[in-house]
Amino acid sequence: MDHFRALVADSNGEEQPKLAIRSLTAADLPEGEVTVRVAYSSVNYKDGMVGILGRMVKSYPHIPGIDLSGTVAESSDSRYRPGDEVIVTSYGLGVTQHGGYSELARVPASWVVPLPTGLTLREAMILGTAGFTAALSVQRLEDNGLSPGNGPVVVAGASGGVGSVAVNILAKRGYEVTASTGRLSEEAYLKELGAAHVIHRDELTESERKPVRRPQWAAAVDPVGGKTLSYLLSTLQYGGSVATSGLTGGIEVETSVYPFILRGVNWLGIDSVECPMELRRRVWERLGSDLKPTMLSSAIVNEITLEQLPEELAHILQGQVRGRTIIKLG
Ligand code: NDP
Repeated sequence: MDHFRALVADSNGEEQPKLAIRSLTAADLPEGEVTVRVAYSSVNYKDGMVGILGRMVKSYPHIPGIDLSGTVAESSDSRYRPGDEVIVTSYGLGVTQHGGYSELARVPASWVVPLPTGLTLREAMILGTAGFTAALSVQRLEDNGLSPGNGPVVVAGASGGVGSVAVNILAKRGYEVTASTGRLSEEAYLKELGAAHVIHRDELTESERKPVRRPQWAAAVDPVGGKTLSYLLSTLQYGGSVATSGLTGGIEVETSVYPFILRGVNWLGIDSVECPMELRRRVWERLGSDLKPTMLSSAIVNEITLEQLPEELAHILQGQVRGRTIIKLG
């Protein structure tokens, strides 16, 4: 592949980046042991922050895309050979180093995860970082005692990437899932994913400050943060847990020691970026087996081209994207 296409963000550092499709050569790629012919990438909230707002980017021109799946083209690391199917997400991909919105990518071997049995390259990107984060949330909740007999589980930001995969995984595992959303128009979609109940996100916030309220949830998956997370902490059942992964609703969280010392609740931090490789591989393997979401085999996935990406990146920042969007590159 002498030339390949990529979506490149460029900026003079003062304005928000401009996105354009460019023809590049391998010399434009960073150093790394593994070169991957990219088959699919995906759209995450963080891609919007990087590609549209220029957040976290250290230098331009920059290829965004925090996720990719594809086939190894070249490798100087003996663990990978040409033709191997792989996933690369997290670390600096698409943030501090060129990412997945490109037909060819080069990465350190330490970032590479072999495609697990039970997943195709396309399915891996329907999941992507959002799906991985949802699965890591479920793994950590269950490691902390959650099982289907404990009671209802609430998922905030349920129409989004992390939320929709979490709803689907939890429902498949037999949990009674309440999906919280700002878009009640998505009720049918959320029920198709397996939600037993759909509530408006306003039901998870209250202006009145209270350290604890009526206990409602055995657990919560929360990619929203802010006031929603304050409310979730105050409404967990005794010994319940909330898995915190995101900030679409804000970064400030008002709470007190009471949920912790009166109800013994657990506040679990979920980080996909630096998640240790052993746990990362285990979670990906589970995504191809017992945690494999049923949504992978349904038609509710949005597949787009590189040309459509800039518009989609703007939409995700406005909270307008439903579920998962993938980009076909190969
Ligand atoms: P999406 O945009 O796909 O989903 C986010 C959802 O949050 C939206 O769909 C919407 O759901 C809800 N939301 C949006 N704006 C608001 C608001 N103002 N108040 C309350 N809810 C809101 O994003 P992702 O699923 O890709 O990511 C979600 C969050 O998780 C982001 O903050 C992201 O940075 C973070 N993240 C963190 C990771 C980690 O490693 N910790 C990894 C992956 C993501 P609805 O319309 O249903 O209410």
